[in-house]
Amino acid sequence: MISCNNLTVKYGKHMVLDKISLNAENGEITVLLGKNGSGKTTLIRTLAGVQSKFDGEIFIDGKNIKQTDRKRLSRAVGILPQNLQKPAITVTDLVSMGRYPYTDAFSKLSAEDISAVERSIKTTGIEHLQDKLVCHLSGGERQLAYISTVIAQNTNNILLDEPTASLDISYRKQFFEILDRQKKENKCIVLSMHSLEEAIKTADKIVFLDNKKIVFCGNTKQFISQRIRDKYFNVKTVELINSDGISYYIFE
Ligand code: ADP
Repeated sequence: MISCNNLTVKYGKHMVLDKISLNAENGEITVLLGKNGSGKTTLIRTLAGVQSKFDGEIFIDGKNIKQTDRKRLSRAVGILPQNLQKPAITVTDLVSMGRYPYTDAFSKLSAEDISAVERSIKTTGIEHLQDKLVCHLSGGERQLAYISTVIAQNTNNILLDEPTASLDISYRKQFFEILDRQKKENKCIVLSMHSLEEAIKTADKIVFLDNKKIVFCGNTKQFISQRIRDKYFNVKTVELINSDGISYYIFE
């Protein structure tokens, strides 16, 4: 579980988040939405402990992150950042890095770590990539390899910054299946995305950021009925109902 109270983040004098409070629960997918520059990346990085300069309080599984050492924090929360590096190491070595929070000072992997890496590669369906160099992967393949690294880290809390950005339709389907499995394992998942259609299909809770504040926090039904997207993006939501009575939403 991830929560924050009165979280304020500034870059120099430029305030990006102003006294934000939210709870992301275990067994739920919380989706962050908002315009470019509304602070989604900043919020994700701050909640993960990467952006350490902030005012207010952040709790991961009930523990204040300011009182949690790095190693303990990295066993509790994993993050997929937006800008992924392209190191000249194999995918297996990259995924193995997800196990560093559990290794000793020499970073030697135990049998348990190795089996966690193998499991994660299998779960994310990237066995065919495991011997390839990360720097030789396509954007979508690289994104899945990094997602696999986060899964190998096996943290209760998972923060993903635009995880579907480079994924084509089949990789997206694969990604949402991975996400669903993590949710069923009662993990607390927070992710940012731009696709409203995918957000509505996936989210248990939507958090909408605008002008440094959370302007909406609720379920997808409330998000649609309150026409949040229409209001902040100046578009119109249209509901289409198919012959089975299932609603689909398009945005004009
Ligand atoms: P989003 O993910 O919603 O696009 P960001 O969190 O990336 O938003 O950015 C929020 C605001 O903070 C933007 O105005 C951006 O220019 C600014 N910003 C982000 N990172 C930095 C940084 N390292 N230094 C200064 N300003 C930054």
